[in-house]
Amino acid sequence: MEKLKYRIQRFMYGRYGFDNLYYALTISCLVLLLLNRSAKLYALNIATYIILIYALYRVFSKNIRKRRLENEKFLKIYIPAKTSLLMTARRIKESGTHRFRRCPGCGSMLRLPRKKGRHIALCPRCGKEFDVDIKF
Ligand SMILES: [Zn+2]
Repeated sequence: MEKLKYRIQRFMYGRYGFDNLYYALTISCLVLLLLNRSAKLYALNIATYIILIYALYRVFSKNIRKRRLENEKFLKIYIPAKTSLLMTARRIKESGTHRFRRCPGCGSMLRLPRKKGRHIALCPRCGKEFDVDIKF
């Protein structure tokens, strides 16, 4: 077992390995395969395998700089999308007790208690006061 581990380590030496883009590509492949179980589209099947081959090609690639740049490009899209999605989920979860408003001064999101009517909110980050109208 140790010998196999050593062989794998030696094989992977100088190769790129796994990153966020790899995990995203493999998860999207799994989702596409599950979706295609009912749809059974030949083209979608081929596209799924092309994505999987590309993900594996990236793992074993020796052009580490290029793979790292690809991952950075991916993260520039992925992180804001993930943050936005988590924020939306939190807004929905806390909609019974809080309202979320963006500060016009600095753009940060403020979590305000749900009190109906017009109020003045104070941004803790930049200190700007602004009007807030909570209708429901
Ligand atoms: Zn602010």
